[in-house]
Amino acid sequence: MRMNMRFDAVYYEPAALDFELGRMLQEKYKDLPWVLVESHNRIPELTAAENKEFPKLKRHLIVGLRKTHNYVPNHKVSDWLVPFTSSGCSAMCLYCYLVCNYNKCAYLRLFVNRGQMLERLLKKSRAAPVPQTFEIGSNSDLVLENVITENLPYIIEHFAREGRGSLTFPTKFDMVEPLLHLDHRGKTIFRMSVNPEDIIRRVELGTSPLGARIRALNDIAGAGYPVGLLIAPIILLPDWKRLYHDLIARLADELSPRVKQGSLIEIILMTYSYVQDAINTDAFPNAVPLLDRATMTGRGRGKYCYRNDVRAEVEAFLREELAACLPDMPILYIS
Ligand code: SF4
Repeated sequence: MRMNMRFDAVYYEPAALDFELGRMLQEKYKDLPWVLVESHNRIPELTAAENKEFPKLKRHLIVGLRKTHNYVPNHKVSDWLVPFTSSGCSAMCLYCYLVCNYNKCAYLRLFVNRGQMLERLLKKSRAAPVPQTFEIGSNSDLVLENVITENLPYIIEHFAREGRGSLTFPTKFDMVEPLLHLDHRGKTIFRMSVNPEDIIRRVELGTSPLGARIRALNDIAGAGYPVGLLIAPIILLPDWKRLYHDLIARLADELSPRVKQGSLIEIILMTYSYVQDAINTDAFPNAVPLLDRATMTGRGRGKYCYRNDVRAEVEAFLREELAACLPDMPILYIS
């Protein structure tokens, strides 16, 4: 799938143009209006927009410098969450966790000081007493970002040569062709996130279709990368059992033997918040409602998750389906 990145304006910090990537973006998007801002975090005219303008805000591209670089310890698939080359995204998944952090301003921000971020990452990887895994895609979707910045080849090959341990990132996009011939040395773990096609179409707005994601994952595994699969987030639409049964059957049919042999599966049930609900209600009035008070419960700070008894039923169902259809793919966790 070719992503059609139709931005309508670029908001930029002036210092971004001191960097090669900033100047490359300036040339690439020279036909768009470039609006000078003091900080990518403070753009009052965008913060003041109404919720219903969310899709319009998502067409803006923000270019700046990342100033905070604190790594957060993590205990799931990686050891560290690394603030990296972008945050936000131009797709519009109705549950996107970035909306909890950035509210309406979850548009794509690109940070052009990638050399500094990479240097810090390499140093940290070499200084650790044992090899560490660094999650570099927790704030955005790096495969989508790569279409604009071409950052991934630069990062993956530098880390392969000079880093210790592994990088990892998840994606919902299939534009992996630029990654297939890189000298990655098996040090980047690529994780594809999937959901039933019906959920992708109705909820994961602007992301790649399921078939394209499966093909991309097969291609990446064929190129020698270690890979993983995320089934996430699990969303309990009324016919969820049929949807997830069909998804798992399709994965069993279409994933390559290489992916099916030993790759780990992560499963995450959806968390939803009143912030997302307020934006979705105004911006997508006809969208499928995700807040289901019959199956969800509050878990503080305006967030909702599925009740424990519901979660237990989902977990038992998925474990059984996966054991039957994908017996050689261990489940790393269900959360
Ligand atoms: S692709 Fe990922 S980052 Fe982008 S909107 Fe969807 S959940 Fe958010």
